[in-house]
Amino acid sequence: MLDCLIRGVNLPDGRKGVDIAINEGRIVEVAPCIGAKAAQEIDASGCLATPPFVDSHFHMDATLTYGQPRINESGTLLEGIALWGELKPHLTVEAIKERARQLCRWAIAKGTLAIRSHVDIGDERLLAVQALLDIREEFKPYIDLQLVAFPQDGYLRHEKNRGNMERALDMGVDVVGGIPHFERTMAEGALSVKLLCELAERRGLPVDMHCDESDDPLSRHVETLAYHANRLRLQGRVTGSHLTSMHSMDNYYVSKLIPLMKEAGLNAVANPLINITLQGRHDTYPKRRGMTRVKELMAAGINVSFGHDCVMDPWYSFGSHDMLEVAHMGLHVAQMTGVAEMRRMFDAVTVNGARTLGLEGYGLEPGCRGDMVIIQAGDVHEALRLRPPRLYVIRRGRIVSRMMPAVARVSLGNAVYEVDFRYPA
Ligand SMILES: [Zn+2]
Repeated sequence: MLDCLIRGVNLPDGRKGVDIAINEGRIVEVAPCIGAKAAQEIDASGCLATPPFVDSHFHMDATLTYGQPRINESGTLLEGIALWGELKPHLTVEAIKERARQLCRWAIAKGTLAIRSHVDIGDERLLAVQALLDIREEFKPYIDLQLVAFPQDGYLRHEKNRGNMERALDMGVDVVGGIPHFERTMAEGALSVKLLCELAERRGLPVDMHCDESDDPLSRHVETLAYHANRLRLQGRVTGSHLTSMHSMDNYYVSKLIPLMKEAGLNAVANPLINITLQGRHDTYPKRRGMTRVKELMAAGINVSFGHDCVMDPWYSFGSHDMLEVAHMGLHVAQMTGVAEMRRMFDAVTVNGARTLGLEGYGLEPGCRGDMVIIQAGDVHEALRLRPPRLYVIRRGRIVSRMMPAVARVSLGNAVYEVDFRYPA
């Protein structure tokens, strides 16, 4: 007797009507019409099954603080940073944990079972670090939560942050972060990248930096990050987040930069919802979109994944932690509307994210972990178009969330039509 058997699903690669068998937390078979019996059987005929969504870049310490202590009136990055500064002295471990728990429940309901969250280490008390380490343990059965030690107000810009970084890593934070474009000078930014990469190398940890989150075409920290990743042989373990300056860079320079990133095995993370709202604010018209060069990076064979970055925090007043919403925005901003390109946008919130995070056993093949999401859509295109209910979210072969299908009943005269927006009906 198997633990769980899911019947008749379509897969992101185009296979249709297959069954997926899960036993002892792992997928044991993927094939049409599996004959075995299971303790839990789910008929999901015609629905899409995907490995769980992965959020490659988030800020769980700031999430769900909308309106605390006040709303970001201008909606800009700078007012957001000021607001976060006003809020920080009032934070408590328990308040951060309570908001993080709520966000994790939202994420699970949307089928996101892996999140890499940055955590601000700028506060001497490291309250947010302690709170999110607790949440990482509490939610371990449900979510793979990775934490990045993030010096929000600069690593070299404030003396205290060098010590705070070491203490946060000693406490068990998983990844070394940074914010080179926020240091005082370009040279200080480059020095911070060097020191933080060396720190990661000494401790055997990955690196994930907010890197060049600006519209400055001359910012060069991505290049520096790639250089040190290569020099210290950290290929595959270093991630550049945001990289929005690349949007504005000279094309000739980018033609040198992208191969350098490829050589260094850099992962790139774009945050479409946030980049499109926060960048280009100094422009009149034409107004830059600010998102990094997703299409070109992917074409060069660089692993590109997407993050949600923010949900109802000082920087962003929207969101329900839905990675399909992120992929939908990314697809529009990057103009990835070709058939193969749409599939890549789905990859950016699933398999590519798993690669950025280095997740073990991710996927829908035998031997992979028994984690998946059943979506009220027939294929990847429909999932992106409708961002519909996640009917079942499964972790290690057990249902951790379920949702009713969304169907409207439209009454026209004597006729009643059920409308679920799927095509063909
Ligand atoms: Zn961020």
